[in-house]
Amino acid sequence: MKVTVAGSAGFCFGVKRAVDTTYKLLDAKENGQICILGHLIHNPHILRDLENRGAMTVKEEDIPCLAEKARPDHPITVVIRAHGITKKVHDMLLEIKGKNPDFHVQDCTCPFVKKIHRIAENECGESDLLLVFGNPTHPEVVGICSYAPCESRVVTSAEDVSLCNLHNKNVVLVSQTTQKLSEWQKCQEEVKKGCTNAKIFDTICSVTENRQNEARRLAGTVDMMIVLGGEESSNTKQLYRTAKEVCPFTVMAEDMSGIPPIPDNIFKMGITAGASTPDSIIQEVIKTMSEIYEGENFAQLLEDSFKTLNTGDIVKGVVTSVAPNELKVDLSAKVTGIVPYDEVADDSSTDLTAIYKVGDEIEAKAIRVSDVDGVATLSIKQAARVTNFKKIAAAAETGEILEGKVIDIVKGGVVVTCMFTRVFIPAGQSGVARDGDMGALKGKTVRFKIIDVNNERGRAVGSIRVVEREERKAQLEEFWANIEEGKQYTGTVKSLTSYGAFVDLGGIDGMVHASELSWTRIKNPAEVVSVGETLNVFVKSFDREKKRISLGYKTEETNPWTIFTNTYAVDSVAKVKIVSLMPFGAFAQIVPGVDGLIHISQIAVKKIAKPADVLEVGQEVDAKIIGIDEENHKVSLSIRALLETAEAAEATEEIAE
Ligand code: SF4
Repeated sequence: MKVTVAGSAGFCFGVKRAVDTTYKLLDAKENGQICILGHLIHNPHILRDLENRGAMTVKEEDIPCLAEKARPDHPITVVIRAHGITKKVHDMLLEIKGKNPDFHVQDCTCPFVKKIHRIAENECGESDLLLVFGNPTHPEVVGICSYAPCESRVVTSAEDVSLCNLHNKNVVLVSQTTQKLSEWQKCQEEVKKGCTNAKIFDTICSVTENRQNEARRLAGTVDMMIVLGGEESSNTKQLYRTAKEVCPFTVMAEDMSGIPPIPDNIFKMGITAGASTPDSIIQEVIKTMSEIYEGENFAQLLEDSFKTLNTGDIVKGVVTSVAPNELKVDLSAKVTGIVPYDEVADDSSTDLTAIYKVGDEIEAKAIRVSDVDGVATLSIKQAARVTNFKKIAAAAETGEILEGKVIDIVKGGVVVTCMFTRVFIPAGQSGVARDGDMGALKGKTVRFKIIDVNNERGRAVGSIRVVEREERKAQLEEFWANIEEGKQYTGTVKSLTSYGAFVDLGGIDGMVHASELSWTRIKNPAEVVSVGETLNVFVKSFDREKKRISLGYKTEETNPWTIFTNTYAVDSVAKVKIVSLMPFGAFAQIVPGVDGLIHISQIAVKKIAKPADVLEVGQEVDAKIIGIDEENHKVSLSIRALLETAEAAEATEEIAE
């Protein structure tokens, strides 16, 4: 038989606080008669024990009579239970206390319940509607309703909500602390459907929520679940229902005597307990089990059941909510774990919602455990620091490149956070030039190596420059190893001189001579390229020793003569532009960089005295290519050939008519 006890089983902090306070009051004689208003908790064992120690359970109607009996030789202390009481009774107690110094009031209302009282009192206007999801007869719910200055209604399910007419109502929705999470979520959805501006307050106690989650998880792994708790305890009943949904063989028992005989086919058993179940009952059940089933894990279970969370403990937990300012963590314990923002991240720009999600497992150090508010303040950073510093120190040995974010600019350098550890990078190692702006590094992710570690003081010094230098060296080696003539690169024009352009090929410069920039004659490289322009270049030649690279830019595809011959042939007709007039003819541009000559005899059908009689510079005309001198790159054009063809065509048409 393997038995697992839920870490959250037993007293919650609210109940523990009320029980401990009452026992302390009973121990100190000056408090006189201790009168508990209603049942302090829903557990008959504890109630019996309190009565045996002299505590009296009283009702609201007994208060005036008690007030009269309170005298200097017979003081009376009234204890308010964790569930709280109605506003009317609370006010009455305070009034009597104000008048009679021998009448004391010890308010043990759980802070979570008090918070709901404040919501009911302060968030509801007189014409609003307070909807309380809970058990209408439960004292906590009765108390909550009494604080609202408006109409209040109690709903027990989402279906109940759907039957309420919320139209035109300002709804304030809260939940009894011990309600079932899944039904509460359905209620919220239903309220939102009927009232878009409802004010909804998530008031389910996280201790209860965590206990339910843990019970569900545990119930899914066992053959039988035992839920320990008093029959009157609302949260025990919820716990029972939650476990039973997952594990059909779930029993609820007040103590060992209520547990039925365990069938032979049960090999794994889970035990949880409601918030009012004292540890002594859980321990009694474990002990009895250990007597029935020898060996196994009972000794360890018993030891674990006495354990409490202490400051300094390293704990594991499951994230139950992620807010921008904190994480809530289920520690399977009686307190809720909270990791404040500063204990998760070093950097104020970190977005917790981007890093964590509900269900993530975390490891953290308990830096404060408060039984008063039921919260364990945790630090992920501190838990990680020791392990991570070892990793950082190891990186100094291995030369591993680390990555971190610059979070601070300090005197003499910058601070980088890496694995929750602050690493100082001196200015000289930052990779920023002596007169550069180190502030520009803030917020950037940088790569660095650890160059010094002080294990005693837990300090590490890093260098970005070392990484940059090594990477640059490797880059250069790779470049020179792979360079070859004709290889193409995409580079950026870095500077221009009268004789060429220097092109950055990615940390290494090459030079394109002016004659290599253009197929036409240029006076200055700036006519063709400008600084910052991206160029596709190729290696014409290089010298590894002198680290010189000569680049080419113009290619055969951009050669005007190639473009011309790829486009035109003899007898093609081209639209040309007259660029100059000579006595013997006119020159016309066919494509940029290639001109042709229209001899004077080829300009018109009739004889003309000079080209300017027919043509002018800039004029565009159609011309026939009548000759191509491949060797000398010369082209002969004729306008006359086209005119004669046109005349001949006209004559043919006339004859036909
Ligand atoms: S269950 Fe939650 S709300 Fe109720 S007494 Fe315990 S801590 Fe307080």
